[in-house]
Order: sequence, then C-alpha cells, then structure tokens
Amino acid sequence: MNDKRSQYVQSLIKTLKRDFRETAGSTGIEAPDERVLEAIRKVPRDRFVPDRDMGMAWENTALSIGYGQTISQPFVVALMTQLLELTPESRVLEIGTGSGYQTALLGELAGEVYSIEVVPELAAQAETRLRELGYDNIRVRSGNGRRGWPDAAPFDAVIVTAAAEDIPPALVEQLRPGGRIVIPVDTGWYGQDLLLGIRTEDGQLDTRSVLPVVFVPLVGKEGGK
Ligand code: SAH
Repeated sequence: MNDKRSQYVQSLIKTLKRDFRETAGSTGIEAPDERVLEAIRKVPRDRFVPDRDMGMAWENTALSIGYGQTISQPFVVALMTQLLELTPESRVLEIGTGSGYQTALLGELAGEVYSIEVVPELAAQAETRLRELGYDNIRVRSGNGRRGWPDAAPFDAVIVTAAAEDIPPALVEQLRPGGRIVIPVDTGWYGQDLLLGIRTEDGQLDTRSVLPVVFVPLVGKEGGK
C-alpha cells in the first residue's frame, strides 16, 4: 500500500470510529471490530468508484455509480457488515451488488458470498472487478434479489443494500435458524430504518431497529413497479 493511500485509509478509519461512537446510543455498538477495519484497509475502494470520483474514494460518503445507483457510505457499510457477525465459515447472501465494494468486504470476512444485482450492467462490472481482485469465493448474478438464491440456501447471513417496504419473505426462509439479516426498511412515515433480524428456531424473525438510514429503493416488488 503506498503512503498516500495508507494516509487516506487511516483518516477514513478515524472517521468510522467517531461515527460508531456518535451513533452508539442508537446502534448499541461502541466501536468497529478489528476484523471489519482490517477488511476496510484491505479492499481498494478506489477500484469501485467511477474514475472521476477517484479523489473521493476514501471519503466517508456515498458516491454515484451510474444507473441511478450509489456505492454506499463507508460507515453504513462497516456497520451493516459488523451486524452480520461473520466468521470465515459463513455463507452470505447479498442483495444489491452495486459497485461490488460491500461484496468484496464480505468476501474478506466470510467463506462464501452470493450476490444478486438487478441492473445487468452493474452485475457484470462488479463481477469483473471482483475477479480481477482475486475473490474466488464470491458469485454474482443478475436478477431480482427479492426471491433470494434458493439453490445456495440456507445462509448464515443476508444483507440487503436497498430499501424495501418490508422484509421479503423468501429472504427469511433462506436464513438458517440463528442466522442474521440486515436490511433497510421504509418506516411508512419518513425515511428508512436499518433493521437487524435474527431467525428463531421456529422460523420467526426477531427484529430490532438499529439506525435511521437512506438507501435507494429495492425494485421489483411482485405485482408492483
Ligand atoms: N452495496 C452497494 C450498494 C448499491 S445501491 C455498493 O455499495 O455499491 C443498491 C443496489 O441495489 C443498486 O445497484 C440497485 O440496482 C440494486 N437493487 C435494487 N433493487 C434490487 C433487487 N430487487 N434485486 C437486486 N438488486 C437490486
């Protein structure tokens, strides 16, 4: 890692630690895990943003990636990743590959990653990038993520990086008992809440609200738009 890049990363990590502290009242999490920070140090975020925004790649901000979509803010990415409590054995399903940045972090922390993106061009770009970076434990496919990836289920963790009106039932069904889902859900009032759900032995989902967030919408509701 060159000096300049390592300075940018240090500065981002400092900001992330501050954001974790400042939101702890809502999230219940005081600090980022060392494993999550290590993954953030390792994944070159500059490879996942458009060339024109290269200078912004290590800022704690969301950036446009085309097709009306964004690469999420690093703090939110770190928080969501941490909530999944991944181990090197975990099998993870991600809905909303986008740039593939979050996907790469999952690839660093989990055993197997399955990621679905509805915009075929974004899925193809992310797949190429992730392959170039050497992630052989990640599979990307294009399609409507609301149906999940039944052939690869059950998953230890599911992460959705676009906001839904409620939690798509197929995603809960594809979670193992004790498995975790992290998903932004419309509050029905204003904005969205990041929810953490843990599947119980009897197939129910225990959920708690973690933090107000802003995500692009999860498209492809059956019978909807
Ligand atoms: N984690 C990504 C976030 C991208 S924004 C990143 O940091 O780069 C959310 C993504 O979800 C967009 O790329 C959007 O096209 C995708 N998306 C929206 N609805 C979807 C659906 N039903 N199935 C799969 N992907 C969806």
